[in-house]
Amino acid sequence: MIIVSITGPGMKDALGQIAASSQYADMFELRLDMIQEPPLGMLMAATGKPIIATCRPDWEGGEFRETESERAEILHAAAELGAAYVDIELNADAGIIRRLHGDGRRLILSYHHNGKGKLDIARMYRRMKSPHAHVLKLAYTAEDCADIKYAFEFLQLAKQDKQRAIAIAMGEFGEPTRILYKKFGGWATYASAGIGLSAAAGQIPAAELRELYRSERISGKTKVFGVVGNPLKQSKGIYLHNPLYQKAKKDAVYCRFQVRDLNSYMKRVAPVLNGFSVTIPHKQSIIKYLDRIDPTAKAIGAVNTVMRKAGRLYGTNTDAPGALDAIENVLKVKGKSMLIAGAGGAARAIAYEAKQRGAKIFLTNRTESTGRKLATEFNVDFVSKTELLRAARKGVRYDIIVNATSVGMTPHVNASPLPKSILKKAIVFDAVYNPPMTKLLRDAKNAGAMIVQGTEMYFNQAALQFELYAGVKPGISTMRKILS
Ligand code: NAP
Repeated sequence: MIIVSITGPGMKDALGQIAASSQYADMFELRLDMIQEPPLGMLMAATGKPIIATCRPDWEGGEFRETESERAEILHAAAELGAAYVDIELNADAGIIRRLHGDGRRLILSYHHNGKGKLDIARMYRRMKSPHAHVLKLAYTAEDCADIKYAFEFLQLAKQDKQRAIAIAMGEFGEPTRILYKKFGGWATYASAGIGLSAAAGQIPAAELRELYRSERISGKTKVFGVVGNPLKQSKGIYLHNPLYQKAKKDAVYCRFQVRDLNSYMKRVAPVLNGFSVTIPHKQSIIKYLDRIDPTAKAIGAVNTVMRKAGRLYGTNTDAPGALDAIENVLKVKGKSMLIAGAGGAARAIAYEAKQRGAKIFLTNRTESTGRKLATEFNVDFVSKTELLRAARKGVRYDIIVNATSVGMTPHVNASPLPKSILKKAIVFDAVYNPPMTKLLRDAKNAGAMIVQGTEMYFNQAALQFELYAGVKPGISTMRKILS
């Protein structure tokens, strides 16, 4: 079930939130601590859906600052008016809990962990179990992705007991717990009525939970995929892979797993996943956790795709063919000269694959020592910045020019890694895809060069990933349509 939290703060806001999210909500939670002096009757009459009355005190992370007896009165009034559930904190006065229970109300017994210290889930669960509770609710802030495991453990303990339970890891690191709750037997999840209307950090809009993640369809059998990196705010993967699974009629979901400590993630969360995409900063460090990587990924020294096959983890790199297929849509690289700016993960992938396909590679990089090291490793030429400018003055040209640095990426959209003078008559490819039209590409276009956008590489590498995850190759035009 999706429970939409209604936060106001004005009465008009609250009514608007109910109306706007009604089609996505199974239930509404009225945050009576956040809505200013609500005429309860009117608010409750605004929907025919079941209502949870919550009046969270400040000592448990809410906004209610009056006395406990005033709080108890508000909750009673809501119960009298027909609230299906009343949310009451485990740490609330025992008398209040008994009285609400005595009224015959169904109680959601909640506990909000303040994030200090580790959670002992088995102990916590035993402490929360109560004959008064219809539903147990645990919420805490995830400091890293591995912390989502607590929520899954809590739900599994409750499932064994046939106890209804909700467990949520708040914040961006905890996002998967809001989507995958049904996989672990959770009773419900909380969602916001829309962007910017969250009652708690990390709440996902109800429309997104229902339409993008289709969270109501998730079961123990649903395959879980996702992207692993940090940060992940800019990642477009969820918006592409989830609609593709829907189109391909696959019982699978794709989430963001924001990971600081890769070691803890691999131990505590990765076993739940069937496969995952890897992005900055983990493309190199993931390798030591894998059972096998293919020769291309090995030579590049970076993995962007991990698959679980018969319990073993297998890594590959779809960036390399993704970039080269995008360039070769315009020009075959065999026998052509290619200047690549950069010496990081993308540069390694592109240089390796281009060399395999027969291009003559020239590398340049801001930090000369790193660039020279890579050039030696791949047995290609290195060109310093001074040499590059001199060559440009002399009219030296490259058939293909590639930006594999992060220069030009949002928010530094007016920066370009290469001088305009060398762009003439070349095919210019920019791996940066955010924004799709970079300063380098604008300069290249103005200089009469042909351009290839980073989004083409993005689609190609994602299509190869999706094929590995789902066993079907999506059309690039479908992907383009989805992301547009
Ligand atoms: P990375 O490993 O961190 O490497 C970054 C590279 O950029 C290094 O060569 C670095 O040079 C250079 N650089 C950073 N800031 C610079 C500056 N201010 N001036 C000059 N050079 C600078 O990153 P990556 O994984 O290779 O990614 C590079 C870019 O490719 C990113 O924008 C990423 O989004 C994009 N990418 C796109 C796709 C796609 O599907 N289109 C896939 C993968 C990556 P130093 O060695 O001097 O630090």
